[in-house]
Amino acid sequence: MIQLTFHSAAQEDVELASRYWAMNAAGKFENEIADLLTRNHIASKALLEKRVRSLADAYDTNQVCLQCGGYEKIRRRSDAQRAAAPMHRPCLACMNRMKVKRSKTASKGMLEQRPVSIRYDDLGDDTVMLLLALEASSGSPGLQIPCAVDDYRKLAPGPASYFFNKLRQANAIVESSQTKGAFLLAPDIHLGAGTNAVNHLRGRELNDSRALYRLWLDLATVDCMAYF
Ligand SMILES: [Zn+2]
Repeated sequence: MIQLTFHSAAQEDVELASRYWAMNAAGKFENEIADLLTRNHIASKALLEKRVRSLADAYDTNQVCLQCGGYEKIRRRSDAQRAAAPMHRPCLACMNRMKVKRSKTASKGMLEQRPVSIRYDDLGDDTVMLLLALEASSGSPGLQIPCAVDDYRKLAPGPASYFFNKLRQANAIVESSQTKGAFLLAPDIHLGAGTNAVNHLRGRELNDSRALYRLWLDLATVDCMAYF
C-alpha cells in the first residue's frame, strides 16, 4: 500500500496523484501510465512522475525503516515493493539526517584526532579499490567527513557491512571516536589523510589480479544476495 500526503487540495490534483499510486491487494498498480498520460495531457512518463511528486509525498507501507519505524518515501512506482520486505538500510529520511549531522560535525572543525598512521603502499590492491569506491559513494572528497556503512549502498545493494569490515581488518579505516557508527580514513605516515592521500591512492597502478578477482567475486555475491 502507498500512503499519500497531499500538497494540493484541488480535486484534479488529488485525483491524479491517487490514480497514479492506486494499488490493488496483489500489489499491482491499477491505472496504466499510458492512460494517465492521455487523460491528463502529459507528454511523458518522466513529466507525469515529476508532476505527481509535486502534488503528494508517497510512502510505501511495505518498507518500514528499522531505525525510525517510519515508511520509506518513494519517488516513482518502480521504488514500491509489492509485498512487505525487510529494509536492510535506514530510510532516506534517516540517511539524510545522518549526512547532515556528519557535515555539521566536519564544518565545526570537530574532526577528531587522527589515529595511528599506516603505510598506504602496504595496502592491497583490493583495499585501495574499496577505499576509492567508498570515497566516490560517500560524496566526501578525501573521505574527510566520517563515513558510515550506508555510504556503501550505492556500490552494492546487499550487505554493505562486508566491505566495511574488509577495510577495518586492513586498518584502512578506523571508527570515529565522536560519531557512533562512523569511520575515518586511517592516515598515511607520509601523506596523512585527506584529498592528497586519496589522490595518491588514485594514481596507484592496480595489478594484483588475484586480489581484484576475489574482490569482484565478493561484489558479485553480495549483489546476488540482495535479491534473495
Ligand atoms: Zn528511518
